[in-house]
Amino acid sequence: MSSQAASQGSQPSQCQGFATQAIHAGYNRQKNADAVSVPIYASAAFDLEDAARGRALAAGDIPGFEYSRVANPTVDALERRLAALEGGVGAVALSSGMAAVSYALMCAGEGGGRIIAPTNLYGASVDALGDFLPQFNIHADFAHNINDLAEVESLIGPDTRAIYAETVANPSTEITDIEPLAELAHRHGIALIVDNTVPTPYLLRPIEFGADIVVHSTTKGITGHGNAIGGVIVDAGRFDWTNGRFPQFTREEQVIADGDGTLRSFAGKFGNEAFIKRIRVKYLRTFGAVQSPFNAYLQLLGLETLPERVSRQVASATAIASHLTRTPHVVKVNYSGLGNTPQFELAAKYFPDGVGQILSFSVDGDVNNVRRILDGTKIFSYVPNIGDARSLIVDPANITHREVPTAWRVAAGVNDNLLRLSVGLEDVNDLIADLDQAIAGAY
Ligand code: PLP
Repeated sequence: MSSQAASQGSQPSQCQGFATQAIHAGYNRQKNADAVSVPIYASAAFDLEDAARGRALAAGDIPGFEYSRVANPTVDALERRLAALEGGVGAVALSSGMAAVSYALMCAGEGGGRIIAPTNLYGASVDALGDFLPQFNIHADFAHNINDLAEVESLIGPDTRAIYAETVANPSTEITDIEPLAELAHRHGIALIVDNTVPTPYLLRPIEFGADIVVHSTTKGITGHGNAIGGVIVDAGRFDWTNGRFPQFTREEQVIADGDGTLRSFAGKFGNEAFIKRIRVKYLRTFGAVQSPFNAYLQLLGLETLPERVSRQVASATAIASHLTRTPHVVKVNYSGLGNTPQFELAAKYFPDGVGQILSFSVDGDVNNVRRILDGTKIFSYVPNIGDARSLIVDPANITHREVPTAWRVAAGVNDNLLRLSVGLEDVNDLIADLDQAIAGAY
C-alpha cells in the first residue's frame, strides 16, 4: 500500500502571513482544473493507471492517491493548510477531535508507555487517559498542576513517553506554560503533545514554543460554524523518536517495506516525519477514523475566515467577561484574558491577541437557579460545543465534563454552579442583554 498521500499542494511560503496562508496554503489550482475553491473529491479510490505506477504508489516511492481511507486530495489540501498554519512538517486530518487525541496518545504511548497529564482536560480526554487507554496498556500519571515543573519532573519514569496538556484549558481557560514544559520534556527524551483547540493556531502556535505534536478538534473554531466534526494531528518534525524510549519507531515492519521487499522502521524510512507517517499508515489505515472530503471542504471554508471570526469573538468575550464581573449573582468569572488574573504574565507571553472565545462563570444559588439561566437565554443556545458562529451556553458539570471524577472536576473549578460560554459573532450588546435578562430572571 502507499504509505503516503500524494503531493498536490503548493509549498507554503514561510514569508506569508497567517491570513494569507489560511486562504491559500496547501492547494494548487493548476492541478485542480483551475478551481478557485478546493474541489470535493468524492471518490473512494483512484486509478493506479498502469502496473508500474501501481507498484510504485503501493511502495510509497512516488506521490499519488490510491484509496480515500488513507489519503484524499480534498483532505490533503486541509492537512497541508493546517500544517502550514501550525508550522509543522505534516498533518493528518481525522474524523473527530477525539480521534486526533486518542491516536496521538496511543502512537506515543504504544506498548506499555506512560503519559503525564493534568486533570483539567476535556472530559473525554480524562476518561481516555484515566480509564480507557489503560485497557490498551497505556497509562497516565496525573499532575495537580501541569505548570509546576518540579511536580511534573517527579512523575517522569523510565516508561514515560509524553506530557499531554491543553494549551488553554476548557472551561477554566487556564494557560499551560508550554516553553519550560517542552524544555523539561526534551531534557528527559520525552515528547510534548498539546491540544490547541481552544485558541486555534490564529491565537497560538505551540510549535514555536517547543511543542512536538499539536492536536485539534477542528469541529470548534477552525470550522467555526458548528456544521462539521473533525480533528487533526500536526507534527513539528523535530523530535528524536530513536532515543531509546520509543521502540515502535525503530522496529522493522512489513507495512512500509521497500519495493524490493526490504523491511523498514518508521524512523529509518521517514526520519523526522516518523510520527505523522505512523499516524497515517498504522492508526488511520487500521482504525479508520478518516475525515470525509465533504467535512474537509467545510473546514477549509471555515479556515478562510478564522482570523476575522476569532478576533471579533475575543473582543466580545473580553467585553462579556468584564461585564459579568459586575453582574449580580455572578460570584466568579474565569477568563485568563481579563488582564487581572494570576496568569496575567502567561497571557501576555503566549496570547498577545487574546486567549479565545471561551469563558466560564459561577453563580450563587443552587441547581434550580442554574437551570433557570440555561432555560432563560434567548440568543445563547444550550449546546455542548464551542467555537461556533452562534453563541452557546452549557453547564459543564452535567454535560461536557460529567465523566471526570468529582474531586478532579471540582479542583478544576467545574462545580455544579458553573456555566460555560462560547461567544459567537452576534452583536455583543445583544449577548450581554441576553445574559442579563436570563440571570435576573433566574432568581
Ligand atoms: N479537545 C477539546 C479541548 C475539546 O473541547 C473537544 C470537544 O469538545 C475535543 C478535544 C474533542 O473533539 P471532537 O468533539 O471533535 O471529537
